[in-house]
Amino acid sequence: MNAPSKIPASSKLIAGATGDWEIVIGLEIHAQVTSEAKLFSGASTGFGAPPNSHVSLVDAAMPGMLPVLNHECVRQAIRTGLGVKAKINLESTFDRKNYFYPDLPQGYQISQYKSPIVGEGEVVVDMGDGDSVTVGIERIHLEQDAGKSIHDQDPKYSFVDLNRSGVALMEIVSKPDMRSSDEAKAYVTKLRTILRYIGSCDGDMDKGNLRADVNVSVRRPGEPFGTRCEIKNVNSIRFIGQAIETEARRQIEILEDGGSIDQETRLFDPVKGETRAMRSKEEAHDYRYFPDPDLLPLVVAQSEVDALAAELPELPDEKKARFVSQYGVTPYDAMVLTLERESADFFEQVASQGEPKLAANWVINELFGRLNKDGTPISESPISAAQLGGLVGLVSDGTISGKIAKDLFEILWTEGGDPRELVESRGLKQVTDTGAIEKVVDEVIAANPDKVEQAKEKPSLIGWFVGQVMKASGGKANPQAVNEILKSKLGI
Ligand code: ADP
Ligand code: MG
Repeated sequence: MNAPSKIPASSKLIAGATGDWEIVIGLEIHAQVTSEAKLFSGASTGFGAPPNSHVSLVDAAMPGMLPVLNHECVRQAIRTGLGVKAKINLESTFDRKNYFYPDLPQGYQISQYKSPIVGEGEVVVDMGDGDSVTVGIERIHLEQDAGKSIHDQDPKYSFVDLNRSGVALMEIVSKPDMRSSDEAKAYVTKLRTILRYIGSCDGDMDKGNLRADVNVSVRRPGEPFGTRCEIKNVNSIRFIGQAIETEARRQIEILEDGGSIDQETRLFDPVKGETRAMRSKEEAHDYRYFPDPDLLPLVVAQSEVDALAAELPELPDEKKARFVSQYGVTPYDAMVLTLERESADFFEQVASQGEPKLAANWVINELFGRLNKDGTPISESPISAAQLGGLVGLVSDGTISGKIAKDLFEILWTEGGDPRELVESRGLKQVTDTGAIEKVVDEVIAANPDKVEQAKEKPSLIGWFVGQVMKASGGKANPQAVNEILKSKLGI
């Protein structure tokens, strides 16, 4: 992410030529609903199928075809609403949003305009420094996705693929509650975590299953909101951050030159690092919204909402709080451990073998580090939770040193095996036998008389001796014992 030119210390403000500015951000997230079938037809939502192979007569908008609501999509929207502590509207309506586009055969998109299924809620967003900000949710509504126009396969013709046409989307609209690109990125990350826990959207941004319209304005601190621009369809968290920084700086420059901001829809070009005007902002009346006469109002029973609430899994915030109190890990570590449900489950299995804090260190630093480096998801981790738990146990009972444990980790990762048996068969056990350590210490001291003299002047040189002894013992000597024996023998 490009950092703004100057950020005043401990503040989210941007320093302009004429003083400080505050960025105001609101996000509209389009999340593809996890469901076998589309929102109003039985056609498959499967990804990567040959063009136009998942298209029913409804999706192709053949005359006389009537939409039939897929209730699983409704349940997913309700689950999502519950996951962001939102009001569920027991009655909502579907409207037609009229516009022409070649990949929209109906000539309108069925969406929810005046009465969405989910009302106001909130998302608590963890910032890396232990702080959190609460971002309000304005609404979540259900709507159809459009098809796809393909312009790069023929010099003369454009093609249309309707596989995505009619797939259910949730549009999750935030309040303008974010004040920096970091907050916006953390918000999308947190929202994606919640969606994945619930299983209502896989959050796969590479496939376009989660994308954001980013609304940005700037103002002098304390002033009313400025005019916003909406940057359409940003499809990665990194680009969301870059688009905000770029757009905010563009607006600040215009305002500082005495100009004004036109409310418009813009596109972010990550290659050029700029946003470009796409069209002036359309108004709701341009779409001639009206209730879809083919669909009855959507009525949901409170008992169904209650049943869905009862089945909801433990959500990230609850899990995080439980990890802090049950395992004594820091709030930051708990946040990292609960980012994905699978990772949290993995950690709990490791921790169940004792030493949860040590387990957290090993899971976060060694395992996550290694998985990220290799691009391997935790579900395919070459090391199982039982193996890692075994390793942690061997460190905590002093059988192996932390350094040897890293070697053991490497063996488990590449070759597999039982940690305790490996320690036996490969002679990795830590040497705590002081006699054996003393012997090595004596050898190192005898071989380095000059260093011994120097160490008497400069006691910090003991670190060098510890290193030598550890090396001579193949990393197996207990470092604490080495330290003590060295201190007494060197007389420091
Ligand atoms: P529309 O339907 O025309 O896109 P909304 O009022 O629904 O307009 O707002 C869309 C998004 O814009 C919301 O996420 C909201 O938080 C955000 N937003 C509204 N005003 C501002 C503003 N002044 N600066 C930044 N974002 C804003
Ligand atoms: Mg909008």
